[in-house]
Amino acid sequence: VDSYVLENPFRLVFDVHRTSSVVTAPPRPLAPRPEGWFGIRTIVVDPGHGGKATGAIGPSGVQEKDLTLELARELKSRLEHRLPVRVVLTRDNDIEVDHDVRTAIANQNQADLFISIHLNSSLGEGAHGAETYFLSTEASDARAAQAAATENLGTDSAVPEDTAAQDLQLILWDLAQTHHLAESQRLANLIQGELNETLQLKDRGVKQAPFRVLMGATMPAVLVEVGFVSNPEEEKKLQDSSYRLALVEALTRAVGRYKAVAENREQPPGDRAPVASPAAPGAGVGGPASPP
Ligand SMILES: [Zn+2]
Repeated sequence: VDSYVLENPFRLVFDVHRTSSVVTAPPRPLAPRPEGWFGIRTIVVDPGHGGKATGAIGPSGVQEKDLTLELARELKSRLEHRLPVRVVLTRDNDIEVDHDVRTAIANQNQADLFISIHLNSSLGEGAHGAETYFLSTEASDARAAQAAATENLGTDSAVPEDTAAQDLQLILWDLAQTHHLAESQRLANLIQGELNETLQLKDRGVKQAPFRVLMGATMPAVLVEVGFVSNPEEEKKLQDSSYRLALVEALTRAVGRYKAVAENREQPPGDRAPVASPAAPGAGVGGPASPP
């Protein structure tokens, strides 16, 4: 066993070497953050579904998995063009990826933000607009519960069969995201606001629901349903690259605003506590600073 210390934030790292002949991918070394930098540098963008998991299918046969991939690729390119960030996609082709693997990719890459992209569906053809979600074990309403139930369908090998084990897993995974809920909500609000404004969408609001793909993410994480593929009009618009670009622009602006606020507020861990000054910068913006 090797051990070593990394700083910013301070952490003790143990490398445990396998002695059996079973070979797995080697753990990526944790890259220390550059001196004096505590901001948003890595963003993981997650195109929903893939492979056999088509996601929602529109009236004319458009598949959610194809549109989410298009949107994610466009978002990566736009974000990297506009901001000094690295964007990692959880998939860049038409393959099936477990929900848990998607968050694991974000965690392994030490992502500062996780954005899962989806398209909504509804039995009623009239439903339209965008919805942004962050995690909760309780859905904020029946519609949110339905959205999570639909998105959670998949072929996750990691999902245990019995309900008690599933509940336990849900609670454990939920704990990982608990520390980041305030920031997830802040990001969700910015995204929803930009989407509403740019596209003059009906505000379906920021909601919470138990989305499996957000559980276990150890960073602010949101799921965006950018439109209803079940709505014939929106299905048509979503196939138009200029419409998609407008969506991607809105998401990019939201991330840019989030990044600016987060980096303005963040201080080196050593300078954070104790905060005795009545005019502590950042107080009231996101609650108390999280412990290092
Ligand atoms: Zn979906």
